[in-house]
Amino acid sequence: MAGSSSSILVTGGAGFIGSEFVRQWIAEETSPLINLDKLTYAGHRASLESVEGDARHIFVEEDICDQDLVARLLNEHRPSAIVHLAAETHVDRSIDEPPAFFRTNVLGTCNLLEAATKYWEMLPQTEHDEFRFLHVSTDEVFGSADPDEAFTETTAYAPNSPYAASKAAADHFVRAYHKTYGLPVVTTNCSNNYGPYQFPEKLIPLMTLSAVAGRALPVYGDGQQVRDWIHVEDHVRAIRQVLAEGRIGEVYLIGADCAKTNLEVVTAIANVVDDLRPDLPHRPCAELIAHVEDRPGHDRRYAIDAGKIQRELDWRPRHDFDSGLRKTVNWYLDNSTWLEQVSAQTAIGERLGLGDGA
Ligand code: NAD
Repeated sequence: MAGSSSSILVTGGAGFIGSEFVRQWIAEETSPLINLDKLTYAGHRASLESVEGDARHIFVEEDICDQDLVARLLNEHRPSAIVHLAAETHVDRSIDEPPAFFRTNVLGTCNLLEAATKYWEMLPQTEHDEFRFLHVSTDEVFGSADPDEAFTETTAYAPNSPYAASKAAADHFVRAYHKTYGLPVVTTNCSNNYGPYQFPEKLIPLMTLSAVAGRALPVYGDGQQVRDWIHVEDHVRAIRQVLAEGRIGEVYLIGADCAKTNLEVVTAIANVVDDLRPDLPHRPCAELIAHVEDRPGHDRRYAIDAGKIQRELDWRPRHDFDSGLRKTVNWYLDNSTWLEQVSAQTAIGERLGLGDGA
C-alpha cells in the first residue's frame, strides 16, 4: 500500500488496536486515513494525540450503524480499502448487555458490508480490482480449545460469550458478502492483545493500576484460564500485511505463540510493578491477588496456530512477552494524564459480567 495516494477508511480508530493502526499508518504510509469512530466509553481522541494536526488523518465522530453516513463517506473520499475494527469488545459487558453487542458488532458490520458492496460495484475497473474490505476479528469465535489444540483457519466456530457470538456472526456476514456478492474481503482472527492505550477495564491495565494503588487484584476462578498474548504493534503489523498481500476471501489467524494462564500474567504484572515502584508500601504486590467468582461461560483456553500467515506472508511477531509486558506496565505508570482522560466518565474496576444484569 505504501506509495498509494488513495485513502483508506478505518473504523474504530480511536480504540486500543485502532489507534495503534492509525499511529502506524500515519507514521509509515503516505496516503490519508479516514477514521470513523463513534467515541463510545472505549474510544478517545486522547489516544490519537500524536496524529492530531496531521492533514492525512481525517476524524469522523459517527456510528458505523448509520448506512447513509458510511455511503456518503465512501463516495466523498473514495477509499481503496475499509479496515473494520469498530466493535463493542468487553466480554463482561456483553454478559450484562448483549443487545449492544448485537447492534454494533453484527448490525454495524452488516451495514458497512452493504455500503461497501454498493460502493465497490460502482468503482471503475482499476479501483474495483484494488478494493479490499479487511475485517478484524478474534480467536474467541472458536470457543475453548482442548488442552493440546491450537486454533487454525479451519477450526469450527463455537462462540460461548455474547461478545464472541456477535463477532462470529459478523465473520459469517463478511464471508457471505464475499461468497454471494463477490466483495473482496479478508478476515483476521487474533489472540489477546496487550500494549499501550488499552482501556483500563481490560486485564493488563486494570491489574497494573490496582497493583500501584494497593487494591485487590481479582483473578476469576482458579486463574488457570490460558490466553495467547500478542503485542498490539505486532497485531497491527500483521493486519497491514494482510491488507497489502493477503488473498481475497481468505482468513488469517494471528498470534505470537505466547500462551499464559491468567494467574501467571497477573503475577508477572505484580512483579514488574514491584520492580518499577520500589517505593510502594504494600509490596510485594502479588500478595494483593484475590480469587473471585468466575465469569459465566468462561472459556478455559485459547491458542493460535499462526502457521498460515507465517508461511504465506512471512509475518513474524517482533515483541517477546517479558520485555513487552514490562514496557506496557511502565507505559501505564508513566501516562496518568491519558488514564485520567479516558476514565473520567466511566467507573473502572466494578465487577461486571456475573450474568445478573442481562
Ligand atoms: P476497543 O474497545 O478498545 O475499541 C473499539 C472502538 O470502536 C472504540 O474506539 C469505539 O469508540 C469504537 N466503536 C464502538 N462502537 C462503534 C460504533 N457503533 N460506531 C463507530 N465506532 C464504534 O477495542 P479493541 O480492543 O481495539 O478491538 C478492536 C477490534 O479488534 C474489535 O473488532 C475486536 O473484536 C478485535 N480484537 C480485539 C482483540 C483484543 O485483544 N483487544 C483481539 C482480537 C480481536
